[in-house]
Amino acid sequence: MLSDAELDRYARQIILPAFGGAGQAKLKGAHVAIIGAGGIGCPAITYLAAAGIGKLTIIDHDVIELSNLQRQPLFTDADIGALKAEVAAGAARRINPHVEVVAVAERIDESNAEALLAGASLILDGCDNFDTRLAVNRSAVALQIPLLSAAIGAFEGQVALYEGWRVDGACYACLVGSDPDRPGINCAETGVMGALAGMIGTMAALETVRALTGLGSSLTGRLAIVDMLDRRWREVGVPKDPLCPVCRA
Ligand SMILES: [Zn+2]
Repeated sequence: MLSDAELDRYARQIILPAFGGAGQAKLKGAHVAIIGAGGIGCPAITYLAAAGIGKLTIIDHDVIELSNLQRQPLFTDADIGALKAEVAAGAARRINPHVEVVAVAERIDESNAEALLAGASLILDGCDNFDTRLAVNRSAVALQIPLLSAAIGAFEGQVALYEGWRVDGACYACLVGSDPDRPGINCAETGVMGALAGMIGTMAALETVRALTGLGSSLTGRLAIVDMLDRRWREVGVPKDPLCPVCRA
């Protein structure tokens, strides 16, 4: 049940016919685990907290650096040296006191991913390295939790939703393979525009709301690609790889 204060707070989205009180109740009942409180995580956390997700778990072992501030607007100069998960959790609680926020300042990897992610309704992966993405994907398939994967580099962003445990559902490894030696791509090497991180993180928040409530047309098994150097948007299907070592039957 939503309180009067909650009905007032969320009035502008509850009034949307495709969302309504039923959509709001689904968000309140949801637990979203967010991997990475960085360029994607900051805007995603902001909008998911404001939207009234019942519980957010923010997983990030990094501390805030000066070079983060250009694209991670939950953090200020005064936060440099502090743990991203803790500062982002505090910000989320200030945005919306109705949301339960848990900060996990641990590196997520093969050894702890299933324990950290068990019980989540959806995993939003906005981390900055390939090894973590593969570990999170394996756990998402094993735990049968939808994986919203968002990534940025230079002027390009990608957002996809994977449900690899389903018979025809692709997983992240179906798209990228699972070679642990594949060179990672991160912002430190390629550079990134802060506003692009904002766009993709916000899009990831919207797609999370869609996945949790069934709004509009599903992103499941699809990859949205945005090239903001030339303003090009496209969307491609991600087929299940029948030989995928992670999600094949
Ligand atoms: Zn797969």
